[in-house]
Amino acid sequence: MKAAGEVTRVGVVGAGTMGNGIAHVFALAGMDVALVDVDADALERARATIQKNLDRQVSRERIAASDAEGALARLGTGTDLDALSDADVVVEAATENPGLKFELFRSIADVASPDALLATNTSSISITEIAAHADWPERVIGMHFMNPVPVMKLVEVIRGLETSDEATRLTLDLCERLGKTPVAANDFPGFVSNRILMPMINEAVVCLMEGVAEADAIDAVMKLGMNHPMGPLALADLIGLDTCLAIMEVLHRDLGDSKYRPCPLLRKYVSAGRVGRKSGRGFYDYSES
Ligand code: NAD
Repeated sequence: MKAAGEVTRVGVVGAGTMGNGIAHVFALAGMDVALVDVDADALERARATIQKNLDRQVSRERIAASDAEGALARLGTGTDLDALSDADVVVEAATENPGLKFELFRSIADVASPDALLATNTSSISITEIAAHADWPERVIGMHFMNPVPVMKLVEVIRGLETSDEATRLTLDLCERLGKTPVAANDFPGFVSNRILMPMINEAVVCLMEGVAEADAIDAVMKLGMNHPMGPLALADLIGLDTCLAIMEVLHRDLGDSKYRPCPLLRKYVSAGRVGRKSGRGFYDYSES
């Protein structure tokens, strides 16, 4: 396994809300990025989003125009996992579905170099269980970026039972190279971030369902009263209601406590395809923007 300073090639699997941000920060830090998704349209959208977000960083004078151009030039996209074969590091950011991730890790371990670090951006699924589906569980680790990735400093780093010290060191050092702050958490469902955040979001949806207040009032109480930068319903729209539901399902099933029962209204919105910003509508309407 390479040291963080020697990493030159990174594979990112999944080009949705998180995958495009993860590809963005690795490319901006000077590494070649192969972004892979099963959906060619998602790859096109990801490239457009990365370009828009880099342009915004240039216009706010956070980075130089040449840095943005360099990052875009280092980004390759494709639908074939073989593009990961020469990566030093692979970060998986596909849909939050345990079966899908187990299968995907088997395939990633087959094509990736035997020296590569295999990281997952899962929000809630057991790292130990994902690792058990790869041939080299000692190289598998949780590298949980926050949304939006280019803006948020935190990366939660989660070791599985078999994760090696070398893989952990590389992950912590890579976070520093990206200008992020790693914080270690143990391998329990939802780790720290979503063990605390998701039940709060779920309870906000219960408040909406029971008519405690309208959506904008619920968000205003949490912003103005608790000093949160965003209300929980607006945050759920940013995360994706399908992802929120998937995380609640994992907490409910793996912790076995009814207090994690996903709110029926959350289920209803997901069934209707109203999954938040990425679909144009969730608790709020984004069709204008
Ligand atoms: P998303 O729905 O926006 O994107 C998921 C992408 O994965 C889609 O483009 C889909 O086509 C692709 N995909 C599905 N199966 C695939 C496969 N077999 N191979 C390659 N690509 C595949 O989801 P997201 O919000 O970006 O979440 C991705 C991961 O990041 C999840 O594990 C989620 O829990 C985690 N996460 C999400 C957030 C958030 O705020 N949305 C924050 C932190 C972590």
